[in-house]
This record gives sequence, C-alpha cells and structure tokens, in this order.
Amino acid sequence: MTSSFVTSSLFRFCSPLVLLAMIFLGMNSVIHVTVSNLGFASNLPYILLSFAVLLCHTFRQGRMAMVSLSLLVAYLIIQIRLQTPLNTGTTLLELSLLATLLPVACLLVYAFPNNGVNSKSMLLYAIIVALFIIWAQLFVSYFQDGGFKSWSEGVLFTVNGLSRLPFVLVLYSLSLLGLTSILVLIYNRSIDAVVYSTILLTSCTFILFDVQFISSTMFSTLGLLMIIYVMSASHDMAFNDQLTNIPGRHALEVDMKHLGRKYSMAMIDIDHFKKFNDTYGHDIGDDVLRLVARLITETGGGARAYRYGGEEFTILFKSKHAEQVKPHLQTLIANIQKYDMIIRNTNSRPENHELGIKKRGYSNQPMKTVNVTISIGLSDNTTTKQPEDVLKLADNALYKAKEAGRNRLCESLVSQ
Ligand code: GH3
Ligand code: MG
Ligand code: MG
Repeated sequence: MTSSFVTSSLFRFCSPLVLLAMIFLGMNSVIHVTVSNLGFASNLPYILLSFAVLLCHTFRQGRMAMVSLSLLVAYLIIQIRLQTPLNTGTTLLELSLLATLLPVACLLVYAFPNNGVNSKSMLLYAIIVALFIIWAQLFVSYFQDGGFKSWSEGVLFTVNGLSRLPFVLVLYSLSLLGLTSILVLIYNRSIDAVVYSTILLTSCTFILFDVQFISSTMFSTLGLLMIIYVMSASHDMAFNDQLTNIPGRHALEVDMKHLGRKYSMAMIDIDHFKKFNDTYGHDIGDDVLRLVARLITETGGGARAYRYGGEEFTILFKSKHAEQVKPHLQTLIANIQKYDMIIRNTNSRPENHELGIKKRGYSNQPMKTVNVTISIGLSDNTTTKQPEDVLKLADNALYKAKEAGRNRLCESLVSQ
C-alpha cells in the first residue's frame, strides 16, 4: 500500500529517539571512525545539509530548506566559534545563545508558507537568521564590556553533573522538545517531524556539548534525516490529496494493482454538493470535504479510503466480499447523516468560517448547524476479475443509489 506505518505519528515520534539511543550506544565506534576520518567527518554535515537544501529546491519544500539553512549556519558557528573549552572566553555564552536562537529559528518556519527555495519567504527568513547572528554578536560584545554580569550569574547557572549548558536552557530545550513532540503526535505533518527531530538532536548536542565529536555526529545525522524527510514529503505530495490529506487517485491506481484474490470496492459521492457550495460557499464546501474524508477513513472492516476526485471518494476492502463490508458502509452513511457540522459567523464575515462538532461549539458568534449525506455504490470481484471493472460496477451502483433517492447504499455485483 502507498502509505504505511513509517508515516504514522508514532513512528515519526519514536524513530528519532531510537536513532539517538543507537548513536549513544555506539558512540565509542562513532568516535573511532571520526578520529580516523577527521577531515571528512567534520565536513560531512555541510555536504549532507547542502544536499538537503538542493533536494528542497527540487521538490519545492521551502520550510525544510529554511531548517536546513539554520542548521548549516549553526554548524558553521560551532566549527568557527565553539572549538575552545567552554570555560574560556565567551564560548559558553555563545553556546547558550546558539541553544536559545536555533530552536526559535526552527519554530519560525511555521510562520512562512511552504513555497519554493527561491522565493521571497526564503529571502526574508535568511534576513531574520542574519539579524539573529548580528543580535547575538552585539550581546556577546556587551557581555565582554561587563554588561549582564548580575543576571548571568543569577539566572544562567549550571548544574554540575547534568550539563555544561545553563540549567534554564536545559529546561528551555526540554520544554520545546515536549511542544514539538505534541505537534508530531497531533498533526503529524512532515514539517512537524523535521522541527521535532531538529530540536531533539540539536538539544542533545548543546546539553552534551562535552562529548567528543557530538556536533559532527548529530548534525550529520540531521543532514541524513533531512534528506529522508524531503523525499518522504515529495512522496506524500505525489500520493496524498492536498485538500483532505488522505491518499488520492494516484495512490488508488497503484494500490489497485495489489489487491489479492478477494476484495470489495465502494464509490462514495456527497449528495447535492453543488447546491451546498452555492448556499454556503466554496470554503465551507472544502471544510465539509475534509470532514467527510476523515469520517470515511474511520470506516471499519479494514477500509482504506481515497479521494477519487471532486466530492467523490473510493474505499478498498482487501480480503472481504461485498456482503462482509455492507454493515460498515451502512454505519458510515448513518454517521455522516447525523454529524452536525457547525458553521460559525456566517453572516458577518463569510471568509471566517469554521467547522466543528456540535458539542465543541463554544462561541458567542451566530451559529448554524448543517448536515450532508452521501450515496454509496458497492461491488466486489466475485464475477469480475479486473479491478477496473469492479470499480466500474461500483460506479454503476452509485448511479443506482442516486436514482433511488440518495443517502443510501446500492450494490452491483454483475455487469448488465
Ligand atoms: P449529486 O447528488 O447528484 O452528486 O449532486 P452534486 O451536486 O453533488 O453533483 P455535481 O456533480 O453536479 O456537483 C459536484 C459539485 O462538487 C460541484 C463542485 O462545485 C463540487 N466540488 C468538487 N470538488 C470540490 C472541491 O474541491 N471543493 C469544493 N468546495 N467543492 C467541490
Ligand atoms: Mg459527483
Ligand atoms: Mg455529488
């Protein structure tokens, strides 16, 4: 199938942690390899992260390019400024500033649209990163002139045995890690996984800065991860429908080639959707499509849902005949019919619509509840062996369901 466990939120949350554990378990070997290839190992992050930026350009992943750019700059700063012991000069202060500003730069990408690399957004982001560097430089100069002495001792204290990084920054890193892991677990977008992995691995770098070759190891790992994430995001774009975020027509065509000996297919179409759009507007129509898509993905019986196009969806049931999946589809029809969608603020600001379930609706704005229904056509491969023919039968059955009055399921198992 075109999407799998590797794109699940749990995998995206756990895999960087497992990777980190493996790195620490094999740290002695990593140090050994790094010592014998010192020049290559210390330049590897530049190579991998630059390659990641190039891939981001090819696949128009502007936000990932922004994170890669920040990582390149951070690694450059580590190589140029932070190679002296932490208790000399302003090294610890500079490390603290980097540990503070790099997560901010990463989180900032959420404020930008995901345009291509050669866009105005990218330029603006690069200017902001440059301003961060200038600000940090001024901060260090002021510190050297004796400024911030009192609170650098009061606030930026370190805890021996825990980290050489000030304790408050350890807490700061862990809080941001908690926040970004929540984003991965709830939203599970590619950019969430990127920002979470970046904050995890760079926080480890800063907290354990004393460990030999930690920065080249972690930044090389991040370079590799970034390349994997860009490839995975471009795969998502090819196979997933951008509006509903469920697999699209291309994914359906690929999956129809691997259906096995027994399967069923259902074609679903939202009833009178043109009228719905005309009444409530296209934006609300889009929200309804997202909501219906989510409800369809929750169908039981091993259903796998796709957006076929427009307001039409397809469900594949592997290893099941039509009779076995009927109850699940009947439940789906009932669930969608009874789902009260709330449209807030319809009169005053038509562009500011929101959709939600009734019990969640807390607002003093005017509210209106709307419902939609769906029709389903069902077929299986008992009489027809070609998946394309089964799909046609399901489509004929859908036509019958529409003719028979909509908001119902019809099946068509034999071609007429
Ligand atoms: P029926 O019950 O016979 O299916 O009637 P219908 O109005 O749903 O069917 P019709 O094919 O006449 O219209 C489909 C409508 O779906 C037309 C179009 O405006 C709407 N639609 C298709 N894709 C989208 C989309 O991505 N967003 C929104 N908001 N509407 C869409
Ligand atoms: Mg239609
Ligand atoms: Mg329709």
